[in-house]
Amino acid sequence: MKMLQTRRQALGTLLALSAAPAFGQATALRPLRTVASFSILADLLRVVGGDAIEAQSLVGPNVDTHGFEPTPATAKRLADADLVFVNGLGYEGWLDRLIKASGYRGTVIVASKGANIRTSGRRPDPHAWQDLGNARKYVANLRDALIQARPDEAPGFMQRAANYDDQLAALERKVRAEFAAIPRDRRRVITSHDAFGYLGAAYDIEFLSPLRGNSSGEPSAAAVARLIEQIRRLNVKAVFMENMTDTRLIERIAREGGAEVGGLLYADSLSPVGGVADTFLKMYAHNAATLIAGMQGRRHV
Ligand SMILES: [Zn+2]
Repeated sequence: MKMLQTRRQALGTLLALSAAPAFGQATALRPLRTVASFSILADLLRVVGGDAIEAQSLVGPNVDTHGFEPTPATAKRLADADLVFVNGLGYEGWLDRLIKASGYRGTVIVASKGANIRTSGRRPDPHAWQDLGNARKYVANLRDALIQARPDEAPGFMQRAANYDDQLAALERKVRAEFAAIPRDRRRVITSHDAFGYLGAAYDIEFLSPLRGNSSGEPSAAAVARLIEQIRRLNVKAVFMENMTDTRLIERIAREGGAEVGGLLYADSLSPVGGVADTFLKMYAHNAATLIAGMQGRRHV
């Protein structure tokens, strides 16, 4: 593989010297096999990579990455990869061991590198993609890693990343204007785990959650009671469920706090294909519309 690439690069140089387009040659290579740790990252990869790559996700749609338990099939998928992409920031606690077990020796790209990171307690909050400015940084990192792996495909990677960056920037402007139109004392919501700190910081929304940073944990009875008391005292109207966690707790909190369940938010993973949130762009727009409706006392459908 290495020799093939070296020869191909030499051929590319020759063609470039003779002023012929060298890029068409890249189609002779099979698509780059990329693996992302979770579904949101796999979606960004597919957008930027186009048909020059294949992208698989280790953690599937509607599945919780924090408490993920890899199987031998997960290790096999890693072993077959050309390039592996992770979020980083302590999000994939199971990954280092899995990589060792799989025998994968290639590069591991950390998608969140250079993003604006907030802390939750004393640790970095891993959910950096919930800030669209950070999502744009992820896309730039993915683009650069793909270019490095497949330099001949650079024009395609750059074009797709630029188009997508425009779409993210447009969504950011739209969402910002919509949140800004909500009175400040209404911008207070409950979700099951602390996944929306970045979104809250970006649009001045206060998120409260019984599960804090890790969706696979169990809240104490005291923490739940405190949250219910808070909902009553602050008159919080909007309580939301998440796609990959048990909904019973959040339903109970809403009932006892006298609030409505305002719908389903997609926090750490996409919906299955065909669902309302099967791409990152759809997921973010859905979450924003659901939050805004909930804060206004409506329900987004
Ligand atoms: Zn999470």
